[in-house]
Amino acid sequence: MSHVHHPSEHESSSRIGVAFFLNLSFTVIELIGGILTNSVAVLSDALHDLGDSISLGMSYYMQKLSTKGRDHRFSYGYKRFSLLSAFINGVVLIVGSVFMLMEAVPRIFHPKEVMAEGMIVLAILGIIFNTLGALRLSGGRTLNEKLLSFHLLEDVFGWVAVLIGGTIMYFFHAPYLDSVLSIIFTLWTLWKVIRLFKQTSMIFLQSVPIDLDVKKLEEIASGIKGVNSFHDLHVWSMDGAYHILTVHLVVAKNMSEKEILTIRKHAHELFHNHHIEHATIEMEREGEECCLLHSCE
Ligand SMILES: [Zn+2]
Ligand SMILES: [Zn+2]
Ligand SMILES: [Zn+2]
Repeated sequence: MSHVHHPSEHESSSRIGVAFFLNLSFTVIELIGGILTNSVAVLSDALHDLGDSISLGMSYYMQKLSTKGRDHRFSYGYKRFSLLSAFINGVVLIVGSVFMLMEAVPRIFHPKEVMAEGMIVLAILGIIFNTLGALRLSGGRTLNEKLLSFHLLEDVFGWVAVLIGGTIMYFFHAPYLDSVLSIIFTLWTLWKVIRLFKQTSMIFLQSVPIDLDVKKLEEIASGIKGVNSFHDLHVWSMDGAYHILTVHLVVAKNMSEKEILTIRKHAHELFHNHHIEHATIEMEREGEECCLLHSCE
């Protein structure tokens, strides 16, 4: 099986690189701004954007690393490194969110004064930075870029909420609004992170990919013309998108070598049409000894 690299990979990683530097520099502005304005809403946005910076930075690095393809150290390639970055990012965001809530929840009952003007300025900057990042990535063709672009657009709405909250607090005395915004935003981030964290863990644990149905694959295996039975069917995913399958197919005892090759080719096509990128199929004749079926010792 050949593994072709597309010429757009270089552009793709440079687009992600630009979005990364936009996001990281804005995260620094937010952290300083959050402390100066004394706003937990801005700080929880800063935490969220720190997570975004980590995942952008990691995908920038991963996109470069993935061009290396397979080697003797990682025979499956480097796809799972991006999973590892999602995992690390998950830990950072979950721990950060807990600290954020520990600060924001008590503030509802004992509100601290916030600088509404500063919040408004930061919110406008937030809308500009996230929109620029999203536009930069929206030109991309890879799924990764599309997801990141969509994510940055979603973040614009978080800043719109800060803008509205800041404007209300500018005209009315409602300092608790800042904590409320912070808690909503932190819970929203947490909800997304925990889902991603769960999906990532399932892939590490080699569960059946969520978009695949083992029963369907079993039906395909047993439905192939000339196949009497099958066993040892395994399916797992490298990174959630690149799925791998192994199976043993048993054919009649007297079947010719040529017929067996035709069946195997057909099986590869069928599995490929069902989102299996990489299938390994072992062909056996009826009555042949299989060590995976019966212990051979
Ligand atoms: Zn291959
Ligand atoms: Zn975000
Ligand atoms: Zn077997």
